[in-house]
Amino acid sequence: MKKIQFLDLKAINQQHRQALIDAATRVIDSGWYVLGQEVKAFEQEFAAYCGTNHCVGMANGLDALVLTLRAWKEMGKLQDGDEVIVPANTYIASVLAITENRLTPVLVEPDEGSYNLCPAKVSAAITSKTKAIVAVHLYGQLAPMKAIMAMADEHRLLVLEDSAQAHGAMVDGKRAGNWGHASGFSFYPGKNLGALGDAGAMTTNDTELAQTVRALGNYGSHKKYENLFQGVNSRLDEMQAALLRVKLQHLDAETRVRQAIAVAYAQDIRNPLVRLPIDSHASLDNLGHHAFHLFVVRVQQRAAFQTHLNATGIDTLIHYPIPPHQQQAYKAYSSLQLPLTESIHKEVVSLPIGPTMSLAQVQTVITACNAYSG
Ligand SMILES: *Cc1c(COP(=O)(O)O)cnc(C)c1O
Repeated sequence: MKKIQFLDLKAINQQHRQALIDAATRVIDSGWYVLGQEVKAFEQEFAAYCGTNHCVGMANGLDALVLTLRAWKEMGKLQDGDEVIVPANTYIASVLAITENRLTPVLVEPDEGSYNLCPAKVSAAITSKTKAIVAVHLYGQLAPMKAIMAMADEHRLLVLEDSAQAHGAMVDGKRAGNWGHASGFSFYPGKNLGALGDAGAMTTNDTELAQTVRALGNYGSHKKYENLFQGVNSRLDEMQAALLRVKLQHLDAETRVRQAIAVAYAQDIRNPLVRLPIDSHASLDNLGHHAFHLFVVRVQQRAAFQTHLNATGIDTLIHYPIPPHQQQAYKAYSSLQLPLTESIHKEVVSLPIGPTMSLAQVQTVITACNAYSG
């Protein structure tokens, strides 16, 4: 039997093969490859999708986060050493964006049920030096943004959403990317909205911020050969923008497939050894806040569980095996005690989920999970 891949990127892009070829051909034939009509059109379309006034294309998601924080420094809203609250169990890029800007990350334990920031723990971490929060929508689920924005208003904090895993996730009609003061998106190929190479964007309703980020990503230039800042080169390519315009049209339909798979997993995986991320009463009607970039279960004997699934032909991945504070890169934080984060990182396993999975494949995963006996 054919192996069930964790994410079949080839099949995902094959679905749109002709439209992608047409878009690529349009770029090739245009004779214009950097900062042209495709980027402009994608930025308008993605801003409209998110409901924001602005979208600025970037070379990747990390740069979107880095340059947004950098822009706030250039605008005088952040300074070296300011504390920035970030979930301890995030992907390392969220933390790199903070330290790259010589800001101080304050790693906060997540909420045990959602893996996202917990308002009470964020509140407890706020000091007189706290100036910003990086709210990560981990695994595709919106962080508790109403509570976070209320806290941010009260303490005059900036909120940067890390929406790299949550394209389209929505609460009260408001999507990821439109809750905070700004948001970073990644269009890395495996993300829910994936380019065919590296790509990213930031969204915001703040015109000055959008202009500053745009300048920073273009050598610090707002006007040809005039440089306001010591910027970098981090632009979205015309080619990737053209391909992303095709894929954006299918994002909502693909998200609905992911959500349907998640509901099937939640309702039919019944194994006390396998802890689910949502309860079995979850239905498609109330899952809009979760784009299910990943379906992450927790299993105490993780290696045995992975071996068991692998023997049935099912690929799994771990997001993520080592938390940022235990990475070599962050030796300075190695003495931090973050027991919840550490136990999450020891137990999480991501099951296959993606817009081209068949019902039979979903059923195979469910059966294999239920057959696991430790
Ligand atoms: C993928 C990802 C990023 C980084 O995006 P790149 O485009 O790979 O630079 C940042 N944050 C999170 C949570 C991610 O999953």
